Amino acid sequence: MTEDLARHLIVAIDGPAGAGKSTVASRIAETFGLVNLETGAMYRAFALKAIESDANFDDPEELQRLAAKTQIRLAPARQGNGVYLDDIEVTRRIREPDVTAAASRVSVHPEIRRWMVAMQRQLGAAGGIVMEGRDIGTAVFPHADVKIFLDAAAETRGQRRFQQNASLIDQAPQAVLEELRERDRRDRTRAESPLAPAADAILIDSTHLSLDEVLARVESIISARLAGKPPA
Ligand code: C5P
Repeated sequence: MTEDLARHLIVAIDGPAGAGKSTVASRIAETFGLVNLETGAMYRAFALKAIESDANFDDPEELQRLAAKTQIRLAPARQGNGVYLDDIEVTRRIREPDVTAAASRVSVHPEIRRWMVAMQRQLGAAGGIVMEGRDIGTAVFPHADVKIFLDAAAETRGQRRFQQNASLIDQAPQAVLEELRERDRRDRTRAESPLAPAADAILIDSTHLSLDEVLARVESIISARLAGKPPA
């Protein structure tokens, strides 16, 4: 293993909502001593700003003006990122359904994506990171050392998301699934960096895999990369 690569490693984990990206990314970060950066939290924080400012989610110019007055900060922590909007902690608030829906709408605009991608490149510039989102391997870090695209059947993702949020958010399973399908549709069909695996990403379908099985695969892919071998 080259010391240099281990220190500057960039792992990109992309995929649709509820595929398990956050859990996998935080566990991988712990195992390999990397910093975990959740880009979805950044889109969510901006969406919250748009909600609070009563902005029109479909007006890119208004959103761009708002972005110029917005500060978003991620504080990496062992379990998920602390999220600050204009220096106020919004970590829990951004998981609420109104923010989830708004994030999926404000993120379609190329102007907003360009701003986010620039911030994300800066955050990850030194490497030593696992960054998760929708376009990390395609747009943010197309030269990432390891690219994983984590997917699962929509029903499975809806079920997992429901269980994960049950204690935090009062939403029926059917509503969770419908919201997830709507977000998927918007993420996959937008013109600017739609959700799709990078040509050189390794696809993992976790529909029939346990978390431990997914982790074992991702760990072996990263270990192989660090050892300069092709993934097993
Ligand atoms: O990953 P998470 O569910 O927190 O992301 C919220 C929303 O932000 C997604 O539905 C997606 O529309 C958007 N997003 C994005 N690109 C990313 C991360 C998130 O468009 N890299």
